[in-house]
Amino acid sequence: MTENRPVRVRFAPSPTGKLHIGGARTALFNWAFARRHGGVFILRIEDTDTERNSQESLDSILSAMRWLGLDWDEGPGVGGDFGPYAQSERMPLYDAAIQKGLTEGWLYRCFCTPERVNALKEEQRNRKENPRYDRACLGLPDAECAKRLEVGEPHVIRFAVPDSETAEIQDHIRGQVTVQSVEVEDWVVVRSNGMPTYNFCCVIDDAQMQISHVVRGEEHLANTPKQVLLYRALGLPQPDYAHVPLILGQDGKKLSKRTGDTALQDYRDKGYPAEAMLNFLGLLGFSIDDETTVFSADEMVAAFDLKRINKSGAIFDTDKLHWLCGDTIRRMTDTDLLERLRPWLNTAVCDKDGGWLLQLAACFRERLTLFGDVSEMSAHLFCECVEPDEKAAKALSADGVADTLSGVADLLAGVESWPPPEFFALVKGWAAEHELGVGKVMKPVRAALTGSLGGPELGDVLALLGKDCSLARLRQAR
Ligand code: GLU
Repeated sequence: MTENRPVRVRFAPSPTGKLHIGGARTALFNWAFARRHGGVFILRIEDTDTERNSQESLDSILSAMRWLGLDWDEGPGVGGDFGPYAQSERMPLYDAAIQKGLTEGWLYRCFCTPERVNALKEEQRNRKENPRYDRACLGLPDAECAKRLEVGEPHVIRFAVPDSETAEIQDHIRGQVTVQSVEVEDWVVVRSNGMPTYNFCCVIDDAQMQISHVVRGEEHLANTPKQVLLYRALGLPQPDYAHVPLILGQDGKKLSKRTGDTALQDYRDKGYPAEAMLNFLGLLGFSIDDETTVFSADEMVAAFDLKRINKSGAIFDTDKLHWLCGDTIRRMTDTDLLERLRPWLNTAVCDKDGGWLLQLAACFRERLTLFGDVSEMSAHLFCECVEPDEKAAKALSADGVADTLSGVADLLAGVESWPPPEFFALVKGWAAEHELGVGKVMKPVRAALTGSLGGPELGDVLALLGKDCSLARLRQAR
């Protein structure tokens, strides 16, 4: 393992969509590893797929990373000594390496048509052999190559995989992985449209950016032998690797849109607390110890160790995520909670002061799973008159309810201080006096005040609504 190299890691998303949960987890692990070792966290944009790239995707990836608090030391908007940090701007570097490879003979031009290669691989498959290019163009005489180039014959450039070498991968999660070079085909380095491929650009960039550890998803494990053999051809030291496990849905299958949201920004937009999301992503494969479930970004950094990442798939457990969200909210101070709830409150339509809003935050704290939940839960506090839901409407239409509500309104009208102290005892006494069960009174009172049968303590509701509004609602709800 390259213990002595300064830690430089990178997250290398392709801007072809929103930041996926799996990508966010990879970014987090890289970030935590860099911070743990006082290293450098680089953001590199792999934007060579010009047809699928978009500025919108890039912007959403950057903003989702900022939301999680994953700040990068080198990359877009920050700069650094190893830029540019978008692959589309790094073509001269790739071209230089391609020229070197052609001159030194570890790259070669292949003029075989896609039809020929496909047919070849089809035959191999039929014979139950591993499909691979048969190296027909390896060793093509220079003169012939030049002639075909001159007439503009379409071609690709391939890597000449050495015959009997062993690719050794030092993987901090999986241990040492070895692959024989015979198992690796002469893969395409430059497509016929002149664009270099992922495996090539990745190695050139990782080498030039002096990446010490490549921490990425397990789906890339199949690429690693190709990359390792390329480092060797280039005469450059290879990085250490850590291939993190797949994220699985609760059905044990690869996480997909079917099982819920897969884009980080969808969680942000629904009002998931970022710190709970970070905690949850951290738990997808990593653990601080065998007991700790709740941790902050700082605590994760302090304990981060690639060796504590599991080999087996990590289950995306929505219940756990929701529990972490509620727990995060319950640990917040009123002031912090209010700041985070503000975007979800319909404050534009009300002239409520800071004290009132703080009271609201405190009153809903225990009931919130997401910040976003507060919009609906508190809607009745921000409107002129309540629109009872189905159950509340039923409770309000029961026999005798109108008398009950006006009786309670009269009772409360006589109370000097607001909210009425001993509210529950007061109503209980009134109910007994009128030979009614306390539930028979409380239910319509709640329905009249809030438009539903659930919600916070009625004492809190009365406090937030104020005396005039509370009495008006009791009197109008018939
Ligand atoms: N652009 C690649 C991806 O998004 C990066 C893979 C790597 O980290 O090497 O999967």
